[in-house]
Amino acid sequence: MDLDPTPRSRDIRLRARADRVIPAGMYGHQAASQLGDGYPQFFRGGSGAIIVDVDGREYVDLMCSWGPVILGHRDPAVEAAAAEQRMLGDCLNGPSEQLVLLAEKLVDTIVDADWAMMAKNGTDATTACVTIARQHTGRGLILVARGCYHGAAPWCTPIHNGTLPTDRAGVRYFDYNDVVDFDRAVTEAREDLAGVLLLPFRHVEGEDQELVDGGFARHVREVCDASDALLMLDDVRCGFRLAHGGSWESLGVRVDLSAWSKAIANGYPLAAVTGTDAVREAATKVFLTGSFWMNAVPMAASIATLDRLTAIDGVSIMARAGARLREGLLAQAGAAGLSVRYTGPDALPYMTFVGDSHRQMLHAFATEAVQNGVYLHPRHNWFMSCALDDAAVDQALIGTEPAFAVVAKQFGTTPTV
Ligand code: PMP
Repeated sequence: MDLDPTPRSRDIRLRARADRVIPAGMYGHQAASQLGDGYPQFFRGGSGAIIVDVDGREYVDLMCSWGPVILGHRDPAVEAAAAEQRMLGDCLNGPSEQLVLLAEKLVDTIVDADWAMMAKNGTDATTACVTIARQHTGRGLILVARGCYHGAAPWCTPIHNGTLPTDRAGVRYFDYNDVVDFDRAVTEAREDLAGVLLLPFRHVEGEDQELVDGGFARHVREVCDASDALLMLDDVRCGFRLAHGGSWESLGVRVDLSAWSKAIANGYPLAAVTGTDAVREAATKVFLTGSFWMNAVPMAASIATLDRLTAIDGVSIMARAGARLREGLLAQAGAAGLSVRYTGPDALPYMTFVGDSHRQMLHAFATEAVQNGVYLHPRHNWFMSCALDDAAVDQALIGTEPAFAVVAKQFGTTPTV
């Protein structure tokens, strides 16, 4: 390999070339232009808990590709299963047997699943849930919580450029965890309520995270039952990180339809919709398809991912890694005289600085952390993987300690609350 004259020269050169041939040089949630200086845009690869940028710099990965990587990069069991299927074929004139094996596995693993259908992206899965709910009920309106992300299709994208108000005409909004506001939205929807689409907990970019209130979730279930509407869980982001059988497994609130993607195949492109027998008939009536939805390699990877997660109890491993990270970061913040809020489950945490309403302190923290070999995000929740053993978490903490010092120096200390 040729040696680069500056530490970031490949990334800089690729960005310049991208600017000529790609709108804005890069688009979507992984555009590094939204992040501080020092964030690479392009990556070479990854292994376990470590990712390597195109210039060869290594980072402990606390973003996990924004969720998909759950066992660690290039997990050997997943790669072997994918390679075995790739030798047979991937994109055929119909699904391989992997489709049936995976559907059986999802039905066995997920508490509310009597059937499963596969797709590619999380947006495919949430959109399919909404479509099935409308078909099942013969009604139009879907309730979603304000600010909550369910994908990039015109009916749910948070950025409305290029879309029509009519694209969202079938969606109504309420505040997450707010029974009174939810009841208002239900009353306004009247006889046209098809369903409610909820996140397992409230994770909104740049905001402190909020766990679901069990009483609120039970209330939504009761209202859906009383009005013959469907309760849908968008488990695209949280799925398989909080529980093996669905993020509300321990809450005991059953859902009619669930959307899955991200971690389902450890980085291979795959999404799934699961549902109960009550809505199976509606799922047979709607037209759901895509050129690559039946590709066999991601399904083989998914089966291996789910098997491995169960075998090693991935949920516990990620909870342990997340707890170690939380304890370390809170101790470091305290020692630096900085007051922080650390919110969400340990496997998908987010940290903000008290009084940092424009997130400038957080950007400074993240920029310094990334320079020190820790890849985390200033506005999006972080993700644990099973590859984050104690040594990897401790390596991350070595990189974050000086980042707190930089924040304290730049912005001053904040009173501990
Ligand atoms: N729902 C949730 C909760 C998500 O976090 C995401 C992706 N960030 C989506 C849906 C959409 O998934 P995708 O980007 O794969 O379409």
